[in-house]
Amino acid sequence: MSENEREQLIDEALVLHVKDYQTADKLVVCFTKKHGKLRFIAYGARYVKNVQGRLLQPFACLNIQVQQGQRVDKLRSCELVRMPKSLDMQQMAYGAVAAELTAVLTEDHEADEELYELLLATLAALTKRNPRLVVLSFAIKLLGITGFAPQMSHCVGCGTAITLDDAAWFSPLQGGLLCEACHAGYTGEGLEPCGQGTRQLWQWLATLDYENPAAFSVRGGDLMELERLLYKFIFFQTDKPLNSLNFLSQMGL
Ligand SMILES: [Zn+2]
Repeated sequence: MSENEREQLIDEALVLHVKDYQTADKLVVCFTKKHGKLRFIAYGARYVKNVQGRLLQPFACLNIQVQQGQRVDKLRSCELVRMPKSLDMQQMAYGAVAAELTAVLTEDHEADEELYELLLATLAALTKRNPRLVVLSFAIKLLGITGFAPQMSHCVGCGTAITLDDAAWFSPLQGGLLCEACHAGYTGEGLEPCGQGTRQLWQWLATLDYENPAAFSVRGGDLMELERLLYKFIFFQTDKPLNSLNFLSQMGL
């Protein structure tokens, strides 16, 4: 099939990541409404006078036209739907975590409109709610949508149901909770404590409505415990550390 016969994609897209490429170009990762994650090269986008280049920035919502190529896709045109609200450093840093998680946990060209809408809602919520909680909620929902959700209701060792009253530990390697009996016989490393409060927080975040959050009081210790096991679990799934998380810790967030 020649380049001309290949499909042109026209879609609404949220920019996740932009990187300089060669001397004049940009490499862009987007999540689109109808075609899932796309990567493409925007030729000439680094030239100062290039209008499209100025639009290609993280969290911008754009209408894009992409020419699919044999090896790389390239941007033919883009126009602005809306620029992101101006974010402070902290909101930006947490937004980058959401963007990177989306990039690493999805496959190219796998359409998922639910995820697209969730990304838009998450981005909007970053400026209105606690961005740390917003991004944790997003991460848990993203794991569910992409099929990576850990097992939080049954023991991954023996299959026994685990209620909030039962003691439980989290195994990032096995992808879920371990019951007391399995924990007692466990000889490996890497188990994380996962208390009742942490599991309640997990449930609250998994269904959190950013517009109308259900009343819940978040305890600092539970929050840190959940964060630690969640990001450790994601690390086991993706097998590489997330740059955006390093940045968060450098900022002391
Ligand atoms: Zn068990």
